Amino acid sequence: MIADSHAHLSHFRFEGRFFGILPREEDYATGELSREELFLRMQEEGVVLSIEPAIELSSNRRILALHQRYPRRVFCAVGVHPTRTFFEKWRARRALEGYLSSPGVVAVGETGLDLHMRGKKHLLCQTAWFLYQVRLAKKHRLPLVLHTRRADRWVQCLLRLFGRGGRGGVVHCFSGDGRCARRYLEMGYYIGIGGTLLQEGEDGQRLRGALKDIPLECILAETDAPYVLPTKRKKIGEKSTRNLRNTPLILKEVIGKIAQIKGVSFEEAERVIFENTLRLFRLSSDQ
Ligand SMILES: [Zn+2]
Repeated sequence: MIADSHAHLSHFRFEGRFFGILPREEDYATGELSREELFLRMQEEGVVLSIEPAIELSSNRRILALHQRYPRRVFCAVGVHPTRTFFEKWRARRALEGYLSSPGVVAVGETGLDLHMRGKKHLLCQTAWFLYQVRLAKKHRLPLVLHTRRADRWVQCLLRLFGRGGRGGVVHCFSGDGRCARRYLEMGYYIGIGGTLLQEGEDGQRLRGALKDIPLECILAETDAPYVLPTKRKKIGEKSTRNLRNTPLILKEVIGKIAQIKGVSFEEAERVIFENTLRLFRLSSDQ
């Protein structure tokens, strides 16, 4: 069984009919799907559950509604994404605590720091929201879903100062090197690995190198669907790649690559990674 530890399936890009990436045989293929059909295809591919992190404050309602629609397959992380903090009113943060008591909530996030967004004001805003969510996670004994971009040092520093005694969490879409991964592991975090592992460029190469330092027992598989395609758009070779959505249907390939690098069978990697996901989010396989 496979779990997508990070997907945005309630995203508006999955409304109506859309072009999604399909499981790879020889080449990547795409197909027209609806959200309903995607969930059916996921079931066929063994993707039995997914964790749905919030993006904007308003998306918290959407993710909770998706849990209601698929109560045994979708579980939620309540929060505000670092790049969206600038657009939310600070006083609105209190709404988050209300959402935490909803059914299906298993984590806080996605939260962290994204230094791709420049400006001191933005950084200040992101830090305030991040620390607020770290506190919420500790108070409610929930793990964190971390988003860090060019900010691992800062995030690690803040977590050392303010995250102690928490339940840890997962560094989603990890993109650092082996040393950086080891520092997260020491703090009790899992490492989220997705489509970047399959990319041919520098990012993919660095991640494949870092994976050697990350024990299988600390790895979660993810897609960040509809984002983070496993290859350059032009390599997919279909006419409709402009609006192409990444989907959890690439997870078998991600896990296959992890198995290959770790020198274990696909079945072993699949089982261990699934158990890791259940352990972190305190879920059981017969939800
Ligand atoms: Zn995300």
